[in-house]
Amino acid sequence: MSDNIFNTASPNTKSERNTQEFHLLEDRFADIQLLRYQLDGFDNLSLQQKTYLYYLSKATLAGRNITIDQNGRYNLAVMQVLEAIYVDYDGDKTTDDFIAFTTYLKQVWFASGIYHHYSQDKFQPKFSIEFFQAEYAKIPTEKLPLKDKQTREQLYDTLSRVIFDANFMPKCINQNPNDDIVMTSAANFYENVSQSEAEQYYKNLNSENSNEQPSWGLNSRLVKENDALKEETYSTQGRYAEALKEICYWLRKASDFAENDEQKHVIALLIQYYETGNLAIFDQMSIAWVQNAKGQIDFINGYIEVYGDPLGIKGTWEGIVHYKDEEATKQARQISESAQWFEDRSPVDARFKKKSVQGVTANAVCAAMLGGEEYPASAIGINLPNASWIRAKYGSKSITIDNLIRAYQQASLQNGFYDEFVDDPQTIEWIRQYNDQCDNLHTLLHECVGHGSGRVLSGVDPNALKAYGNTIEEARADLFALYFLADEKLIELGLLDNPKAFEAQYYTYLLNGLMTQLARIELGQQIEEAHMRNRALIARWVMANSDGNVALKVVNGKHFLEIHDYQKLRQSFATLLCEIQRIKSEGDYDAARELVEKYGVTIDADLHQEIRTRYNTLNIAPYKGFINPLLIPVLDNEGAISDIRIDYSEPYDEQMLRYSRQYPFQP
Ligand code: ZN
Repeated sequence: MSDNIFNTASPNTKSERNTQEFHLLEDRFADIQLLRYQLDGFDNLSLQQKTYLYYLSKATLAGRNITIDQNGRYNLAVMQVLEAIYVDYDGDKTTDDFIAFTTYLKQVWFASGIYHHYSQDKFQPKFSIEFFQAEYAKIPTEKLPLKDKQTREQLYDTLSRVIFDANFMPKCINQNPNDDIVMTSAANFYENVSQSEAEQYYKNLNSENSNEQPSWGLNSRLVKENDALKEETYSTQGRYAEALKEICYWLRKASDFAENDEQKHVIALLIQYYETGNLAIFDQMSIAWVQNAKGQIDFINGYIEVYGDPLGIKGTWEGIVHYKDEEATKQARQISESAQWFEDRSPVDARFKKKSVQGVTANAVCAAMLGGEEYPASAIGINLPNASWIRAKYGSKSITIDNLIRAYQQASLQNGFYDEFVDDPQTIEWIRQYNDQCDNLHTLLHECVGHGSGRVLSGVDPNALKAYGNTIEEARADLFALYFLADEKLIELGLLDNPKAFEAQYYTYLLNGLMTQLARIELGQQIEEAHMRNRALIARWVMANSDGNVALKVVNGKHFLEIHDYQKLRQSFATLLCEIQRIKSEGDYDAARELVEKYGVTIDADLHQEIRTRYNTLNIAPYKGFINPLLIPVLDNEGAISDIRIDYSEPYDEQMLRYSRQYPFQP
């Protein structure tokens, strides 16, 4: 499972991140902004660790064409032809056709195919079919991905239809319950198979009476040949053999530099799984992986998430390698170890407190390489494995990917957002200095101690708040975090160095809850999502009950937030926390409904329109993704690796073309 939700933004003042030439904002096209992420603290790793990470990163990249082919059967051919045109193009590069062609190719690269990574709709090319036809004619035959006895003309007919006919295979994943969602989805997990045939096939496999069954169908394509269904299993003997052999080659090299025997064991099982396609071995590997918490470096490599299959059975290939962010993990540990201290001093009624409370720790990591479904658009939090029986018996591992989160935060600081929505230069400066730090602490307090705090009175149904339960629970964790963010305890723990730092977070939190989060909601809609409702609830309740301490003022027709006394605001958070905890502890459904409906749901239409207009003028790309760093081994005189150098300068198109050359594997 992966999580893409986060909210605000902030700068970065740590000097070690500025030692390399580094440009955060890169290519911007269509609805996409590309960013770079930085490998913070990489130099603190040992040579063995760096080498281990380097070989794992090769295994992360080698599966690229598996993902592209899974996302649609024509994707690889389309990409190969587009790249051939792009590389050899010697015409005028300022024409509308060429510019639109370039945008289309960049979109196809970004989505690992011809369908939008989020909406699942086929991209509509804005270049002419005449341009395509003329450029196609110039491609030498040996560069064309011709299959069997296919002619140039036949390939052209197929690809021009795939690219230009909007009605031909229009969606990668079709979820419309009135359609056969297997036949009408372009995702390449089934061939000549109907939805009911596929469902029946896996129902039969799953009928075996066992709670510990493998995830049948996860690593195969289901096809019908001569009226019989059969699985084309992905393995070094089967489908995707070439790519999988390459992945195994790099995994073997990595194994020699593993930090411990447990990591070697995980790698050995993964290789065995790729060689055999045996799903029982995949489960053994997952168990070994989830139990292995030692070492600083970890990775995911395989067919993991099933969002890409309309039936939710088949895994899309992905890869990521990461290393523990020691500093951030230490902070998480400090906070979770102080869980009882926070609980004892929480402002809520003593009857609702826990006598003994345990903090939770997730690992904060830095990504070192993204591949497959995690590239260029990546999750920022991951919790695996997915098999529920393994989770129940052996637990799961959670990571938050800090260097990607930081890149997102910095990007939103550079896009003019705060200059538009904050009218006071001093507050902007304060936000630039402290909001990043406070944002992270807010998240840690929310996750490590907030959710775990407090208790439900005995006899109260834990689901008593029903549809309002999630919003109330998120509000409780947020208020707990907001309240303690202003506590001297954080200074004492060395997590903040300025007793007024929290003011940056108080300001941006209310700004978001009162105004800026509305930019993400379509006009005419209300607030639906639980986290957004919770922020609106807190911000609007506080404003309504603050005697003017928190207010919106209008300057030149635009609304701005004013906060007069931050200590008084902290007391407001405490008061609301007490009430929210009471509602939760007593299961007071009526009070939950009233609070959420009164403060968390409706939107003032005029304010909504204003926020949307102001936001749109900033021209912020709705979707973001990442260019990978280039890891370059430095060799000594004997040809052994003596260091790994990081290069952040490779442009997006060159990176994509390089991957296509280095990992050209066909299904
Ligand atoms: Zn939460």
